[in-house]
Amino acid sequence: MGSVTRLTNVWEQVSALLTHHKHCYVCKQSSALLVCEYCRYDTSIAHFEVPGFDLLEKPSVSEHLVSPYYHHLYALGKYEGILKALINRLKFSKEPLAAQVLSRFFVDYIYPRMAHTSELPEVLVPVPLSKWRYAQRGYNQARLLAHALGKRCDLPVYDCVKRLRHTKAQSELNREQRLENIHDAFALCSSIEYKHIALVDDVVTTGATINSACKAIVASYPDITVSVWSMALSPPTRTKTQNSGDI
Ligand SMILES: [Zn+2]
Repeated sequence: MGSVTRLTNVWEQVSALLTHHKHCYVCKQSSALLVCEYCRYDTSIAHFEVPGFDLLEKPSVSEHLVSPYYHHLYALGKYEGILKALINRLKFSKEPLAAQVLSRFFVDYIYPRMAHTSELPEVLVPVPLSKWRYAQRGYNQARLLAHALGKRCDLPVYDCVKRLRHTKAQSELNREQRLENIHDAFALCSSIEYKHIALVDDVVTTGATINSACKAIVASYPDITVSVWSMALSPPTRTKTQNSGDI
């Protein structure tokens, strides 16, 4: 972990020098760093009692998820408050810098505990967008997150999954519709020579999207271990307008 911490500090300093930060990206207070010291240690970012805990081992979380094809799930916190604001800036306000901030929090809160287990992946795989969504947004937020996380954790990023077709935004659908919408929407586009990979996404709600991507991987590599690194978890609700959704 020591080498990763040193790498993270160096990256933060280089990032600050390159972008000449004058204000904290989160609270807007004067700061030479992208995230000021106050926000960096703001524990309200990570809502779960034990940051870095495998959420698939938490029945209150896992009972809501579609998860037969992945083995571990990590998220910074619930999709609310500062975390929700940061994800929305990344996803809907064309602010790719938010990926740097989210990755900073993920590595501070989640990575240290994972580093003490055998659950570390060898590579990060971003959940792909459809060509239509990519053209609309201009970038894949999951890919930005994967690269930011990869720099901080010294892990490579591997685009080995593609989306076969455009799907409706999951946020517009209920649980059953989400499953149908995303069914067989992904395929492998490269071979995988790793034993443990981590799929990276911004928000997990029902898990239908990541599970569908995992299904495409596991179909060819049944013995592979798949972790999911998500910035937030959005508990499913009955209404269709309250969730961000995994799109
Ligand atoms: Zn701040």
